[in-house]
Amino acid sequence: MSRDVKHAYKNGTRAMDGKPGKNYWQNRGRYTITITTTPPDRTVKGTETITYINNSPDTMGNCSIKLLLNIHKPGAPREFGANPDYLTAGVHIDECKVDGQAVRARSDVFTNLSIKLPKPLSPHDSIQFSFTWHYEVSLQSGREGMIDSTTYFLAYFYPRVAVYDDYNGWDRMPFMDSHEFYSDFNDYDVTINVPKNYIVVGTGTLQHPENLLQPGFLKKYNESFTSDQTIQIVTKPDWQAKNVTTQNSVNSWRFTSANVPDVAFGISDHFNWDGSSVVVDDATHRRAGAFAVYNDTAVDYHRVAQYARHSLNWLSHHWPGIPYPYEKTTVFQGYAGMEYPMMANDESYGDTTFSRFVAEHEIAHTYMPFYMGINETRYGFMDEGWATTFEILIGRNDLGVEEAEKVFKEFRVNGWINDPSPGQDVPIVGPGDNMIGDALGNNEYGKAALGYLAMKDLLGDELFKKCLHEYMDRWHGKHPIPWDFFFTFNDVARKDLNWFWSNWFFNHNYIDLAIKSATRSRNDYSITIENIGGMPAPVNIIANYSDGTKESFHQTPIIWQTNQQSATVKVSPKKKVESINLDGGIFMDADTTNNTWKEKAF
Ligand SMILES: [Zn+2]
Repeated sequence: MSRDVKHAYKNGTRAMDGKPGKNYWQNRGRYTITITTTPPDRTVKGTETITYINNSPDTMGNCSIKLLLNIHKPGAPREFGANPDYLTAGVHIDECKVDGQAVRARSDVFTNLSIKLPKPLSPHDSIQFSFTWHYEVSLQSGREGMIDSTTYFLAYFYPRVAVYDDYNGWDRMPFMDSHEFYSDFNDYDVTINVPKNYIVVGTGTLQHPENLLQPGFLKKYNESFTSDQTIQIVTKPDWQAKNVTTQNSVNSWRFTSANVPDVAFGISDHFNWDGSSVVVDDATHRRAGAFAVYNDTAVDYHRVAQYARHSLNWLSHHWPGIPYPYEKTTVFQGYAGMEYPMMANDESYGDTTFSRFVAEHEIAHTYMPFYMGINETRYGFMDEGWATTFEILIGRNDLGVEEAEKVFKEFRVNGWINDPSPGQDVPIVGPGDNMIGDALGNNEYGKAALGYLAMKDLLGDELFKKCLHEYMDRWHGKHPIPWDFFFTFNDVARKDLNWFWSNWFFNHNYIDLAIKSATRSRNDYSITIENIGGMPAPVNIIANYSDGTKESFHQTPIIWQTNQQSATVKVSPKKKVESINLDGGIFMDADTTNNTWKEKAF
């Protein structure tokens, strides 16, 4: 535990049994936002009021505001280079008021703006910010920006209060691109003013669609919420006819959402709009909508509403096996492969298997980070590791075990296990905000997912799911940190699993197992496996028989419980053994030259 985290446990905001502590608190805001944009003019103008509630025991003299789009400013610190099409002048704050009183908002800042409050904000009191601002949508689009001249993906576009929490205080980690976000759970009421013939999709419940869509399109939009089949709400001939929306010069699309960590929206006057839905909660028969919004030329996207629907269905019923918590998801064609609450911004791919894979991964993020309020910037393995875990579990369903594991090895494990450079083997627990490049990626995605999957193997599916659900139940809508997760598993499983957590998440370990010796007594073999890399990985002991067949003896990580350096395992092969070898499957071994033992007679 780092000192800041120890302090939180000492203060009782978190508890050693993994529950939120008796003194747990978190802050929240109510956001009312109106933005106006008239493509192809790339200016977005916004007004906003934030009621910010201080539930902390601290009096605040200043307040930290995130201006995430300032990453586009020339000179902003970034983990990657920026070409001219990425650069903009950033966010211009035209006016800033605190409780109605104008205050100064410095313009020479990047993604963090500190505002000195005219009067300190006391514990359990609230404050109102109002902002008027504008910015230019960047020509180059990543997680947000211009998709084409009349299609924008709008995200991170509004000034927001940074998280103030019990272990770190104000989150002033700069946004530099590869490290993602950390947000409080807020209520949002967002109005987006766009010209007629533009559709707007995004986070929250669309208010009064009957005032925005022509009756035929309204009917199809509504029907999609009860249809298993994809309903083509808006097709190419529809948007070409320019009569999809109400014919006011400006339409105001209003979306409301409660208890979500962020909002994002896509707008276009020439994208198709498909919708379908599925029962996500069997107990209440609640359905959730699955939508796709895309350029007609994107062949794969004509299937994406069904891929999204399949994702909602599978995630709700299998892993994590918690009903999808929102009314819908929309996958919008862009250039990112990125998750937002109720939204994904995904590229179009020639290979529809990959389109489905990406949709599944981004929709899996619904649970972590959004349902769970993860600090992605510092502890990204708490969300990417899970999305990657769910990705292989749904992949085994979609592609079969063999193909899904092949993809997982190539895409998620190979880059780590076959790279001996020091950044690869740093502890997963991070802090991730101090890691970059492959070290960040491998520690957040593949290595972390393997840790969760190894624990699943150790506990068995039933107990693992019980622990996972308890963790998600205790912490959803809150801000869990790694120890809350580890302690909850220890608590619910009624086991001290620290030997596992310590070796997988807090150490410089990697996977390299070796057969040290094998001795036969009658038909049993006693096999001593040396754990050279130190990871408490599961392994299959393969007995290769003299008749050319083989048999696999699976060992869960429990073999490493008492001694993490060496384990002796007894197996009882059914036939005459020629050789024995180790095969970790997706738990790839860094050095396979020491994985085989041969009978002397051969
Ligand atoms: Zn991800």
